[in-house]
Amino acid sequence: MPCPNTDPVAALDWLFSSLEKDLKESKMWPIRLMQHKHQDTLRNLLAKHSQLIEEKYFVLQQWKVQKDAGQSLDLAVLTGVIVDVASIRDAYLGDAAAAAGLSKPKGGKKRKSADTSQDHRSKRPRLTPFISPHVLAQETAHSAVTWCKSLGGKLPPTDLVGRIGRTGCHGRHKGNIERDCQTVINTFGKRFGATISTAPIRMWNPKKSRIEVKNLPLIFPDDFASALWARSPQLFRKMLLGDGNVREYWEHCRNFCDWFRSHPSYNHPNNWDNMVPMSLYGDDVQTFRNSECGAMSIVAWSSDLSTGNSFKSRYFLITAFSEYEECAYTFNDLMSEISKRIIMMVTPKMAREKQYPWLKGDYSFMLSSLQGDLKWVNHTYGNLFDYRSNDFCGYCMCKKRHDVIGMTLGDFTASALHASTTRVYRHEDLVNRSAVYTIPGAHPKRILHDMAHSQYLGTGKTLNGGALVVLCETGLWGNMQGPGKYDEKLQVALQEAHADFLAWKKQNKIACTQPRFTLARVNRRHRQMWPVLNSKAIAGKTISFFLTERAVAWANRPNATLWEKTLATCLWSYARMVSVMDSAKSIFTEAEAEQFQEHCFVHLQAYANLNVQGFKAKGKEPGRNCFVLLPKHHFLYHAGVDAKETRLNPKHFMLLSAESFVGYVGRIGRRTHRSSLTLRTIQKYLALMHLHVQRLERGEQS
Ligand SMILES: [Zn+2]
Repeated sequence: MPCPNTDPVAALDWLFSSLEKDLKESKMWPIRLMQHKHQDTLRNLLAKHSQLIEEKYFVLQQWKVQKDAGQSLDLAVLTGVIVDVASIRDAYLGDAAAAAGLSKPKGGKKRKSADTSQDHRSKRPRLTPFISPHVLAQETAHSAVTWCKSLGGKLPPTDLVGRIGRTGCHGRHKGNIERDCQTVINTFGKRFGATISTAPIRMWNPKKSRIEVKNLPLIFPDDFASALWARSPQLFRKMLLGDGNVREYWEHCRNFCDWFRSHPSYNHPNNWDNMVPMSLYGDDVQTFRNSECGAMSIVAWSSDLSTGNSFKSRYFLITAFSEYEECAYTFNDLMSEISKRIIMMVTPKMAREKQYPWLKGDYSFMLSSLQGDLKWVNHTYGNLFDYRSNDFCGYCMCKKRHDVIGMTLGDFTASALHASTTRVYRHEDLVNRSAVYTIPGAHPKRILHDMAHSQYLGTGKTLNGGALVVLCETGLWGNMQGPGKYDEKLQVALQEAHADFLAWKKQNKIACTQPRFTLARVNRRHRQMWPVLNSKAIAGKTISFFLTERAVAWANRPNATLWEKTLATCLWSYARMVSVMDSAKSIFTEAEAEQFQEHCFVHLQAYANLNVQGFKAKGKEPGRNCFVLLPKHHFLYHAGVDAKETRLNPKHFMLLSAESFVGYVGRIGRRTHRSSLTLRTIQKYLALMHLHVQRLERGEQS
């Protein structure tokens, strides 16, 4: 007897509600089974079950109506009916379980024990979702119907589901669905509350092949912040200051950070609990190849203190446009417009004149930093870190080539001569280079090189490439000394290395996707080519840890050379530096800062040593032309120096979630034409932001 209770009236209630669920499910099975061949019998059987269940459902419904109306029931007859219905339901559940078994992915996980512990429910088939698009469409439609039902069958006129459902139902032409859909998105986005402004920007017109002034749509940071405030001061605080201790951060900056003590906002009367450090961020993102918009440039802003938030609650779009439309003046025009607004936000007097709503909560803004990858910050903020030229560092006077060794890129000692120099800028020169320097506090020393771009996607790649090639050449993954062509032998060794990497990953239970190591991905076909291993940011970091383990074991064998030991040291200190950064909070303890700097310097010094050895090696000696020195190594040196001085964890301004953000905006902008890209992207972004914020307000996400 499947009923939980021997009382037939209680059983009636239970069976009735069970059948209600089964009815929906049983109708789906014949459709779902369509995609399985040779399952006609089962399909027909389930179709019959479905019919029977429907009939019995109506029988039970009549009984239920009588019961709810308070009429007396013939319990003997009812018991008979219940036994009959329950046996039909049992038969159905058995066949449905068989059908569910068909749809299980091969080698799928075993049922969780929690499922089987429930007595009568254990027979319920588990519905595994199919990937087939028509089923997906059916399920979406099904959930839309359930959604409507849950609202009593009548959707409020403002409901998004209802509005999308109604698109294309009005007007003469079916093709208007696109227009309708756009209108829905637009009006929905307006509910977020941020104004979409326009600014005159000089841009390239590819059709007419000339530069024109275009009114580019954009969301100014102050408008966005006002919209956040209007939604609720709690949301404003969550999005801009995160959950951390704000006062502690600022007091730390006051005690340890030179840049902050010389910052104009330092002297303003501030409430240390409520000051928002804002940063400008930008990047290019590749959309589909051959699509109308090509690559997109995205400009955004964020707060330094919201590092714990998800990327949607951390980076806020200002504007996005197609790279095709960019001309020599575009960025400066754009930055000058954005800067005007930011100046109003960060200058207390102007903020009061503008009557910004957040002043009521005693909040204030200050410009903290300018962020982006090296290419972006150069391109946008006046080419101060020109990695192609000899004079590449915007912080100090270090050179690639200089008569005095202490002034060159290769000197990574703590007492290096360049470490005691600073580059001095005249304000007018800076303003001529980029309008962004008109913002109080914007200075080249606040252009930050983040670890994700500089290390995982920069120096980490040359380190991994060099280490991989050297370990292959010294015979860790098979002897390469025998006869044969260099590239063919290296390819075989690289294959071995990749197999070893996969085994290591499995053993350490690390999930990371890295395609095979090939000559092209390592950039080494002959001994004159500098090896660089191509990978994504996190994969690169994982590979460094793998190579560290292998190199350290390899250098511990009895006949290992000093050179192999240097390689192991170089990798080991890099891995240690990364783990110190990963495990620490956003403010380093004194010991952590010390450790970080030490590992950083040892890594760089060992690396420079390997670089020199690579130059000296001749003929078939291993490690020829490996470990190229890059300006990014020098920026890492600065990061090491700063970490000890300011004790701020570089993780703090790492742009990993910013990458997710640009990917997200890139996906939004992908399906638009380049002429409407900016407006459409901003409208869609605001609509999604509205939904995101609604979820936050309901306490569903971070
Ligand atoms: Zn420098």
